[in-house]
Amino acid sequence: MLKRSIALLLCFAAVMSVGLTACSSSNSVSSMVSSEASSASKASEESKVSDSKIKVSVTFNAMYEFVHAVGKDKVEISTIIPDGTEPHDFEPKAQDLVGLSTAQVFVYSGFGMEAWTDNAIKSANNPNLIAVEASKGAKPIKNTDPGEIKEHGQYDPHIWLSLKGAEIEVKNIKDALVKADSANKDYYEKNCSDFIAQLENLYTKYDSKFKNAKKKSFVTGHAAFGYLCRDFGLKQNSVEDVFAEGEPSAQQLVELVKFCKENKVTTIFAEEMASPDVSKTLAKEVGAKVETIYTVESGEDSKTYLERVESDLTKIDASLEG
Ligand SMILES: [Zn+2]
Repeated sequence: MLKRSIALLLCFAAVMSVGLTACSSSNSVSSMVSSEASSASKASEESKVSDSKIKVSVTFNAMYEFVHAVGKDKVEISTIIPDGTEPHDFEPKAQDLVGLSTAQVFVYSGFGMEAWTDNAIKSANNPNLIAVEASKGAKPIKNTDPGEIKEHGQYDPHIWLSLKGAEIEVKNIKDALVKADSANKDYYEKNCSDFIAQLENLYTKYDSKFKNAKKKSFVTGHAAFGYLCRDFGLKQNSVEDVFAEGEPSAQQLVELVKFCKENKVTTIFAEEMASPDVSKTLAKEVGAKVETIYTVESGEDSKTYLERVESDLTKIDASLEG
């Protein structure tokens, strides 16, 4: 049943990462370690104790990854949006924000990804909190598609999926950690440069591959790859954007198949592994296969940021050759 299968696929695309169940324990952060420990070192100035970890609150998984890359064992990170939760629609409850009242640093990505941060910062009532909009200084992509504006707001928020964007975010995070813990400035600077070197290696590797690619566009469920495409001169076609949300009509299904055939689409990317039945049916209908692609909006498959982005780039590259 093609119709059911595609409806399912659209459903997967629409809910994005919700289906994720295997959350890596490394990404879920233990509930706030009691701050009583700090009372033992009352005499010392809290932020200057070099062996105490810096408490960092982050909004979602990509921010966890960047803070971890720079802060490593000198930071204790708590993620506000739980893995497996749709991050674009997330509205924090009071208990989600408890950690902000004692955190030293709060990292969010910005560009409308987390519309709730201003209120959260106000209600944290924590004058020492260093709040960082990680995307600050990056050039946003303005949304033009009405469906995208409805779903994601004025700007495309997915800056962290760009290696160039990640570089900016990591630098802003490093500056905040240095501000919070200047005694370990060299440590954060070194980790930051090491991570940026890895981002640049990946970029260089794929830049030459994409320059030589036969095709320059790919099809994905959720339009999360605008910045990645900007980096490499590629184009994403989102199933959500081409076809309105909700149950597609028979006519829309025909159009989907037609679009894929006309554009010689060999791969349709989806944020979550669609059931093998859906993949097989769709692959048969349009002569394509369904491949999982990572958005790093949630912890996925216990993989790091670099592993997930490299996986995405490898799969996108393969689909452009096909
Ligand atoms: Zn998204």
